[in-house]
Amino acid sequence: MLEFGKIVLFGVGLIGGSFALALKKANAVEEIVGFSRSPNSLKIAQEIGIIDRAGINPAHEIADADVIMFATPVQQIPTILEKIFPYLKNPNTILTDVGSSKLEIVQQARKIMKGKIGQFVPAHPIAGTEFSGPKAAFPELFQNKKLVLTPLKENKDEFLDRIKLAWRICGAEIFELDPESHDTIFAGVSHLPHMLSFALVADLANRENSNLFFEFAASGFRDFTRIAASDAEMWRDICLSNRYTLIAEIAHFQVVLNNMMAALATNDKKMLEQIFSQASQARNEWAKNKQK
Ligand code: NAP
Repeated sequence: MLEFGKIVLFGVGLIGGSFALALKKANAVEEIVGFSRSPNSLKIAQEIGIIDRAGINPAHEIADADVIMFATPVQQIPTILEKIFPYLKNPNTILTDVGSSKLEIVQQARKIMKGKIGQFVPAHPIAGTEFSGPKAAFPELFQNKKLVLTPLKENKDEFLDRIKLAWRICGAEIFELDPESHDTIFAGVSHLPHMLSFALVADLANRENSNLFFEFAASGFRDFTRIAASDAEMWRDICLSNRYTLIAEIAHFQVVLNNMMAALATNDKKMLEQIFSQASQARNEWAKNKQK
């Protein structure tokens, strides 16, 4: 059923592309018009069927858009919003995003949109891979995954329902958080782990004998560092836009790391075992609950 008319998509990579493919697979959208940074990404996106056509003039395209989605690296979102905002005339057009951090995007959107902020519905799909670009997109990416909305008090229920519907069609389960809680939680379970994984691989890669380390790195290394293969620009933007919360998370983590270092230095078996067994239990519990 055609639930949506025209969707204007800024960013036709893994997330924007998968969203578009899922809606198209469900025959839920009439037309998707794409904008990207490089003509090559747009060409690929059109070949794969993510978009029906490449947009040329954003001002012209957004005039009759049902939904405008921002699926670019997070720091590009306010920049694009600022450029297109003067042309947003239709009060029924819903703007939404998929950014992995929320508070800064919401604050900047408020400054730009002022009285029209109710048209912006912030969202974050909790799904992804370490691959990027339109070729990485696939329609099942969001199946049985969480979608977190961070609704604003100005959002009309009708707008929230439209965005929820789009994500349900993609197969996602909808959750709601406020932007601050969202950023605190994801600093802990996503942004910090990415920092740690990038840090470990960068540290090893910088050593003179890095090839020896990598030669013997095996499955534990593969599991811990899969996310260090992620796109550098995307993660730079996420970490910077959530930097104050992330700095607090790093400080928190450093306390545990220092305790572990002290336990090693003093041969404190009890302390080390206590930290390891608490972590092991929590990880097993988490994995068990995930399978349910
Ligand atoms: P991606 O595959 O690299 O796609 C990003 C897209 O944005 C590319 O098509 C890129 O174009 C385009 N772009 C960059 N700057 C632009 C600009 N100024 N104007 C128009 N298009 C522009 O990245 P992604 O994984 O889809 O991530 C997109 C967003 O989703 C990010 O905000 C990220 O935080 C969020 N997110 C990611 C994941 C994940 O695991 N990957 C999960 C949840 C949410 P070019 O290719 O032409 O440069």
